[in-house]
Amino acid sequence: MPRIPDPATWRSERVSQAHIADYKPFSMVDGEGVRCSLYVSGCLFACEGCFNEAAWSFRYGTPYDEALEDRIVADLGNSYVQGLSLLGGEPFLNTGVALRLLERVRADLGSAKDVWCWTGYRFEDLLETGSPDQLALLRGLDVLVDGPFELASRDLTLQFRGSSNQRVLDVPASLSDGRAVEWAGLRAQGPAPEQIDRRQLI
Ligand code: SF4
Repeated sequence: MPRIPDPATWRSERVSQAHIADYKPFSMVDGEGVRCSLYVSGCLFACEGCFNEAAWSFRYGTPYDEALEDRIVADLGNSYVQGLSLLGGEPFLNTGVALRLLERVRADLGSAKDVWCWTGYRFEDLLETGSPDQLALLRGLDVLVDGPFELASRDLTLQFRGSSNQRVLDVPASLSDGRAVEWAGLRAQGPAPEQIDRRQLI
């Protein structure tokens, strides 16, 4: 079973080293449309079956820097790019990277690009016990794929996630209603093989 988040100790400012595991521009597998995908380093959930245990380390990969941020914003500026995807590792334990980039994207590109985020947290837990930086990140998102990967609930037919406990949520609607609201674009369709391994990251 994944670890249960402890709001008192699971804090980005305590654990994040502002490292990123990978950056993939123009990806077709991390959400709807063509996307720029940033994978942050470091996760405390320790889900059994996690696809990328190496990225549990907060020092995995390379430091996030301004040059990469400039590149991501420039890549997002292409008309054929629908949006930004934040994955991990755990973006909500790396808000110094994820929130910083989100705020830069909103400042430079407004709402022209949508922002998706994958997290091991559940929406309700973020809402009830999230720290100010976690709530700021949540409030800036369009779509949240939430919950830890559960090996016993693994389902390779699911879209955008790896286990059936995970949900694809419309964040503005969820915040407005004060409850988890499923993203309307979610389609009941067959497996997308090229998406399976990446979905197990979260
Ligand atoms: S599946 Fe996601 S939430 Fe779970 S340990 Fe791996 S990176 Fe962390």
